[in-house]
Amino acid sequence: MFEKLALIGIGLIGSSIARATRLKGLTKTIAISTRRAETLDEARALGLGDSYTMDPIEAVKHADLVILCIPVQAYGAVMAQIGPYLEPDAIISDVGSVKQHVIKEMAPFVPKGVHLIPGHPIAGTEHSGPAAGFPELFTNRWCVLTPGKDVDSKAVEKLTAFWTALGSNVEIMDAAHHDMVLAITSHIPHLVAYNIVGTVADLEADTQSEVIKFSASGFRDFTRIAASDPVMWRDVFLTNRDAVLEMLGRFLEDLAKLQRMVRVGDGPGMEALFTRTRKVRRSIITAGQETAAPDFGRSHGETKVLEGPSGTAVLDGAAVPLVEVNVEPQRPVREHGGGDDA
Ligand code: NAP
Repeated sequence: MFEKLALIGIGLIGSSIARATRLKGLTKTIAISTRRAETLDEARALGLGDSYTMDPIEAVKHADLVILCIPVQAYGAVMAQIGPYLEPDAIISDVGSVKQHVIKEMAPFVPKGVHLIPGHPIAGTEHSGPAAGFPELFTNRWCVLTPGKDVDSKAVEKLTAFWTALGSNVEIMDAAHHDMVLAITSHIPHLVAYNIVGTVADLEADTQSEVIKFSASGFRDFTRIAASDPVMWRDVFLTNRDAVLEMLGRFLEDLAKLQRMVRVGDGPGMEALFTRTRKVRRSIITAGQETAAPDFGRSHGETKVLEGPSGTAVLDGAAVPLVEVNVEPQRPVREHGGGDDA
C-alpha cells in the first residue's frame, strides 16, 4: 500500500500503528523517530520498525506516508524541521486529539505537492510509551480524517484504505466539527473526571480511605479516565479551548437544572432524565462501541457475564453480587482519551 511509513513519535499510538502496519503488511518499511534515546532503544528492543533515528529529517526521507504521533504542542517545532524534506506526493498526517489547532501548526510547513490529511483515531488507553501499544487498538474504532477541501481525493482514499486496513471505521469530517463533537464526547468527560478525582484528592485522609475502599460504586470509573496522560490532556484543553468552553457552558446549565431537581425533590424529573440517559448508554452498546457486560476495569475475556437484577451480574448462569465477580486482568481499550482517547 505504501513504500515507507515514517512514524514521528513512538508512544502508545505510534507503536500501535507500527505493530498493526507490520502485522497487516501495509508498508515495505517502517522508520521510527523519537525525541529521547531511551524511547528509541525501547522501540528497537521491541522490534517495532526497520530503522530507528532521533533525527526526524532522516526518518521522513523517501517516506510516502508520514504520521506525527507526538503531543500536539510539539507539532510546530517538528514540522519546521521536517517540512522541507517531505517527499513530493507524500501524505503527511497525524493522530492528534484536536484538529483545527494542528492544521494551523502543520499547514504552513507543508510544501506544494505534499498532501496534508490530519487524522484522529478515537482509540486509546490510559497507558503511554512504546510498550503500551498493541495491534488491535484500532479494531472497530473510529478514525476521523479532516482533509481540507483542496486536498487530492486520491490521497484521501489511500489514507482511508490504510486506516481501514488497520481495522478502523473511517469518517471524513470538517476539522471544526470534529473539535466540537470531541469536546462533548471526550474532552468534557475528562474534565469532569479530573475535577471529581481532584476533589477527592483534597479531602481529609480518613474520608479518602473510605473513598478508595468503596470506589467500585462509581468513583473508580472516573479514576481510570483521570489517570490519562497529563501532558496530552493539558494540550487538549490549551488547544481546543473554544469548543470545550462552549460545551462546558451547556454542561453547567444542565447541572444547575439537576441540582434544582435534587433540591426541590423533583422525583419524576430525575427519573425522566435518567431514563433518557440510560437509552443513550443502550444505543452506544447497540452501535458496538461498548459491551453490555459489567466493566470492572478488567477483562471480560472469555467469561460470559450478563446483566442480572440490580446490583448483580449473571456469571455462568448464576446471579452473583458484583463485588464477588472475579475476572482476569484486561488491557482496557477505550476511546481516546489518553486513556481513553482524547
Ligand atoms: P505517548 O505514549 O506519551 O508517546 C508520545 C511520543 O511523543 C513519544 O515518542 C515521545 O517521545 C514523543 N514526544 C513527547 N513530547 C515530545 C516533544 N515535545 N517533541 C517531540 N516528541 C515528543 O503518547 P500517545 O498516547 O501515543 O499520544 C500521542 C498523540 O496521540 C497525541 O497527540 C495524542 O493527542 C494522540 N492520541 C492519543 C490517544 C491516547 O489515548 N493516548 C488517543 C488518540 C490520539 P520521547 O518518549 O522520546 O520523549
